Amino acid sequence: MSSFDPQHRQNNVAGHATVTLYRISQAIALLLRDKGQKYGLSPTQVQALLFLAYARPNACTIGGLADRLGCTSATASGVADALERKGLVIREPWPQNRRTIMLSLTANGVAMAAMVDDGLEELETVVRELSEAELAALLRAARHIEWGLAEQGWIKVYESCWKCHMFRPDEHPNDPLRPHHCAFMDAPLQEADTYTECSYAVPLGELVQ
Ligand code: SF4
Repeated sequence: MSSFDPQHRQNNVAGHATVTLYRISQAIALLLRDKGQKYGLSPTQVQALLFLAYARPNACTIGGLADRLGCTSATASGVADALERKGLVIREPWPQNRRTIMLSLTANGVAMAAMVDDGLEELETVVRELSEAELAALLRAARHIEWGLAEQGWIKVYESCWKCHMFRPDEHPNDPLRPHHCAFMDAPLQEADTYTECSYAVPLGELVQ
């Protein structure tokens, strides 16, 4: 039985939905390719720039990039090399462990990330046509699929603190520099960090029991 087989999909809603997701993923790949081509970037380089633009700084390592791109460290290193040659990324050893290489965007990298940031706009335009109830159902279903694939090890889910079950806002009202708290790390958080994406996040929602 295969979701690609139209006969199998005939009376099989899960198979039909699966192949629909496959077509959407093809469209997303094309959207990113199109966006990157305008600026001489591959789709992978676009994804790497957006990862570095939004991920928590301590996740911006070669290993973190490999996790995000779903590739090996050697491949992620090659992507970082290419972006470094374009003057968009710099590598620096992490002060606490000089064997770990941190990646960050240069000023040109920040500007380029901003230019490719709307790579999913066409998709969101179509999604916005749904009613509120349809959007809520779509989000619930999409999260279920996302987490199922994450549990199988195919993707890593990044989220910001404000959408994370482990976030305790304003838990330290007397500390203006780090007023929030992360229950996962058991550590205070500064405001700016709460808007970056974290690989340890447990997204809020129906899947959290
Ligand atoms: S686990 Fe990550 S996203 Fe969640 S509160 Fe802690 S730092 Fe924020």
